[in-house]
Amino acid sequence: MIANELTYQELAELDKKHFMHPTSPIQQQQENGPAYIFTKGDGIYLEDVHGKKVIDGMSSLWNVNIGHGRKELGIAAMEQMNKLAFSSSFATFSNEPAIRLAAKIAEVTPGDLNATFFTSGGSEANDTAYKLARHYWILKGQPEKKKIISRIKSYHGVAMGATSATGLKPFRDFTNSLAPDFYHTDNFSAKAFEEAVISEGPDTIAAFIAEPVQGAGGVHIAPEEYFKNVRNICDKYNILFITDEVITGFGRTGKYFGIEHYGVAPDLMCFAKGVTSGYAQLGGVVLSEKIYEDFKRLSTGTLLHGYTYSGHPMACAVALKNIEIIENENLIENAKNMGAEMLKGFRWIQGEREIVKNVRALGLMGAIELNSQQSAAGPLAPLIVNEAAKQGLICRSVVFDKMDILVLAPPLSINKQEIDRLVEIIHHAIYQIEQKV
Ligand code: PMP
Repeated sequence: MIANELTYQELAELDKKHFMHPTSPIQQQQENGPAYIFTKGDGIYLEDVHGKKVIDGMSSLWNVNIGHGRKELGIAAMEQMNKLAFSSSFATFSNEPAIRLAAKIAEVTPGDLNATFFTSGGSEANDTAYKLARHYWILKGQPEKKKIISRIKSYHGVAMGATSATGLKPFRDFTNSLAPDFYHTDNFSAKAFEEAVISEGPDTIAAFIAEPVQGAGGVHIAPEEYFKNVRNICDKYNILFITDEVITGFGRTGKYFGIEHYGVAPDLMCFAKGVTSGYAQLGGVVLSEKIYEDFKRLSTGTLLHGYTYSGHPMACAVALKNIEIIENENLIENAKNMGAEMLKGFRWIQGEREIVKNVRALGLMGAIELNSQQSAAGPLAPLIVNEAAKQGLICRSVVFDKMDILVLAPPLSINKQEIDRLVEIIHHAIYQIEQKV
């Protein structure tokens, strides 16, 4: 029997005993208990059981775009739940929030992206995109087109296909058997992509997938011409171009979708996270009109792919309210302006602190790359993350494959004063570590 009121110690013990955390160090959890037990959120702040307030400099998992504590989303969820919490989308059953959201997504996505297949998150969106791309080629009478090419330093999630596509080796090495027919190429070179296409054989390749800005791999922003060249190569060799906008979608980079910075549109687009700002679990894949027309024309049986929660009415109602807030409060424009301020702050830090090698940002997706060669202590970013946490800021380190990068992605609702505070804390944390190493 668990008592109604639990002390912090009791909660921490139950956590250690019963809660297996995703993407977490198990031994550290067993030694120290959970890093935080959060109870509340408001704007860019999270508050824990001790009443300690911290700045959520990562929008939690790059997803709380509108910020925490927006009651309108709670009301939208409650109203929809009380009316119709769930109904199926299989066998052409439908519901109004899913219909409205699919239409809204068609309106805001670039190019002729027009039809949405809903999932519960980004990993499912990725696996769906790979399966739909392969099924497309089966419908077109070219079943040998099944290989998926992705990029090094990419992150696409943890479902079997998504893990196999992910270009960060430690995630693939976690398991000792991956999905077949996944290949990785350089993250910035369109020429390397074309060479991979030629060496693998264009007639065996179903699709190429890329994040417009690589997120979990350390915020890598592709050169200006990269995606235009990728688009041309995909057209030249009859390869579907998929963008993974799970992080970059819904305003994060200062445009509605990250690929818009590059002036091209994909054939399929994965989204999740920012579509609901994390207030409900939702993702999906948007297909271009051209691809969807082929599905309509050539698919004679049943589309044998679907999740119980595809088109979940409550999640879709929350997404609609979230998008309304993003638009009404000009949060995309704000992400662009505050992103520029954040980058200005990062550049100032770079000028002040020797251990900073390089800084970059696109909208509110930013990175500070460190000179870890100077340190016998190993990578510096994790030390800075700990120091920043002590000073009330959550940020993240990326140390895969010898990288040493600090990444930041605060809510799109952040204001100038809050950006200044965030920059000040990071600077101070870097200063503290610089003194120690
Ligand atoms: N793609 C990208 C680009 C991501 O950043 C993530 C999550 N960080 C995913 C896919 C996986 O999404 P989820 O965790 O919702 O399954």
